[in-house]
Amino acid sequence: MTFARELLGLLVPVECAGCGLDDVAWCASCARRLAGRLWRCEDRATRLDRMDGRGPLPVWTLADCTGHVRRAVVAWKDRGRLDLTRPFAAALGSAAEGLSVDVGAGPLLVVPCPSTAAARRRRGGNLVDALAVGVGNGLVGAGVPAWPAPVLVRSRGHDQVGLGARERARNLAGHVRVPTRHRARLADRDVLVVDDVLTTGATVAACRSTLERAGARVIGAVTLASTPGPQSVPRLPPARECPLGDPSPGRVVRGLARG
Ligand SMILES: [Zn+2]
Repeated sequence: MTFARELLGLLVPVECAGCGLDDVAWCASCARRLAGRLWRCEDRATRLDRMDGRGPLPVWTLADCTGHVRRAVVAWKDRGRLDLTRPFAAALGSAAEGLSVDVGAGPLLVVPCPSTAAARRRRGGNLVDALAVGVGNGLVGAGVPAWPAPVLVRSRGHDQVGLGARERARNLAGHVRVPTRHRARLADRDVLVVDDVLTTGATVAACRSTLERAGARVIGAVTLASTPGPQSVPRLPPARECPLGDPSPGRVVRGLARG
């Protein structure tokens, strides 16, 4: 499907998914917004601190989910711009090379946040799988043994779009699970979680809890973008909140390690 959409893009007029510039799918100016180093953003996501004295889970991200970046992510997830999968995964992969000093010597499993079956059908797969492949490639390029491992599934619950923090957490509770066939590979393994956008942190927190119950050690998370937290702005009306922190869609991307 990705190939078909990319082919279609050659036949019909395209515009930059970020800024709307004509005749280019993803312009150099917008690409530069995702070309920097990863930075820590967990202080924006209230759901990541379990109040156990150890502080919130470290989360690294590439950009604020605002402006052209937000527009491009929405186009990617909900408007069929699957041609962005490749540049997004490549940007995250390049940046992930810089994580080698933060995540230790490995080996690491890179686990994408899962999505609902409905979201997978709508998007033709789990777009986050490709981001996990990118992060894995970046770590391997930096000398850290790492394998993408799509071991989580969303069994029920609604998509997270448009939900507030409390509703997201309630929606996710109990719905992220590890299928029995994947349990053995998680025991005593270090894991890095990957998602598209960090919003409240509810998605990453639910994945972390599920992975830890399966015996894994979750050392952090990486996201493409991060919504500026409500604490840094007096009170954001819900309409301005980036509705993208949900785990996305389940097609297994070619090249994912299954062992
Ligand atoms: Zn642009």
